[in-house]
Amino acid sequence: MAKKPAKDKDHLSLKRKSGWEILKGKEKAIDDYCSEYLSFITEAKTEREAVSAIKQKIADRTDIIAVENRLRAIALCRKGKAPLSEGLRIVVAHLDAPRLDLKANPLYEDIELAMLKTHYYGGIKKYQWLARPLAIHGVVIRADGKPINITMGENESEPCFTIEDLLPHLADKVQASKNVKDAFQGEKLNIIFGSKPDLNVKEEKVKKNILALLNKKYGITEEDFVSADLQIVPSGPAREIGIDASMLGGYGHDDRICAWAALKAIMSAKDLPYTTIALLVDKEEIGSEGNTGAKSMFVEEVVWEIAEKFNQKIFPSKVLYRSKAISGDVNGALDPDYPEVHEKTNAAKLGYGVCVTKFTGARGKSGASEASAEYIGWIRTMLNKKKIPWQTGELGKVDEGGGGTVAKYLAEYGMDIVDMGPALLSMHAPFEIASKVDAYSTYLSYLAFMEEK
Ligand code: MN
Ligand code: MN
Repeated sequence: MAKKPAKDKDHLSLKRKSGWEILKGKEKAIDDYCSEYLSFITEAKTEREAVSAIKQKIADRTDIIAVENRLRAIALCRKGKAPLSEGLRIVVAHLDAPRLDLKANPLYEDIELAMLKTHYYGGIKKYQWLARPLAIHGVVIRADGKPINITMGENESEPCFTIEDLLPHLADKVQASKNVKDAFQGEKLNIIFGSKPDLNVKEEKVKKNILALLNKKYGITEEDFVSADLQIVPSGPAREIGIDASMLGGYGHDDRICAWAALKAIMSAKDLPYTTIALLVDKEEIGSEGNTGAKSMFVEEVVWEIAEKFNQKIFPSKVLYRSKAISGDVNGALDPDYPEVHEKTNAAKLGYGVCVTKFTGARGKSGASEASAEYIGWIRTMLNKKKIPWQTGELGKVDEGGGGTVAKYLAEYGMDIVDMGPALLSMHAPFEIASKVDAYSTYLSYLAFMEEK
């Protein structure tokens, strides 16, 4: 027999395809998914607003058990075929985003301007918050105990707020000649709140006028700021980016793009083999601290509650140990202007699908959560089987910096967990960029995970 000609060995090398190529023909589904997501992040700019928007979405779904945690975190649970003792499927994402919080005594008057003092929350580049329209979202608990929800500065018909920046003519010494860290100081991130004096009083004329306005509008006094969660966020809607409308621009993609994907996946999943939870937590941006963050006992409380509802006798730690999870969070995409901070072979690219991040951390994987070869193997087979666009990612070059997610806190229970979400440009900026096809691929990947036998 004649010898067969040598086969082309091209199939042995890894060639990633663009998500747009893999999902060709699905443009309508991608656009529909993304336009609903854009309305969600336009409306929900704080964790509280996200929780209430999500509750509205699932209001008529009797098959979804919602366990809420102090109006700022929520778990959406659906019963699967297997008993709880065989473990859960969990997609965890976070609802908080970097922002400026008002201090407990925020209001003061300086040079006849009423100002509000802030303390930034999460990793921000301070200069990005200067000289741009800002809004105030949050809640004030009045002395009589009544919660007053406040949203100011979003509609074009109402005034917005801003933080002033120094004119370039005078910025040489205090800004331009310094490094960025020193040039922009947290204590100078003060909100310009008003400027009109009350002509009937002798001192603090502007501040007193503002207090009268606040009292008239909301029935609040200066002391009420103490019992408030008031957040300064970028004003205005999320919108499409690019002449081809292929990208999404908005505040808080990190991490509401994953929270939304988890919500849509748990709403549309069919024939769940395991009880499945979309666990949407708070406080990730400051280290998952506090009673609404991933370090809290919230996840155990959720397991207790569903076990009670299903009338199954379990121990939450045993159930969690036997569970599989996705930590839905964003990664940094290869930046066309700063390719030098990435390692091109391992950085995620915009438009190449959901990004699977094997390990996070910084400087020798310190503080990392790392998924095992076996677990990534299982995830990868599932994604390929369903033809979902996916890629791998790593947050920057070795020793360039890094970051972590909630994955390591859930990994402490012994469950398998891996980070998966879209890669962003301008991550943590007031206007972050995501690819539509990556947003949709993220949803498809969570859905596949929930339904996988
Ligand atoms: Mn995040
Ligand atoms: Mn973040």
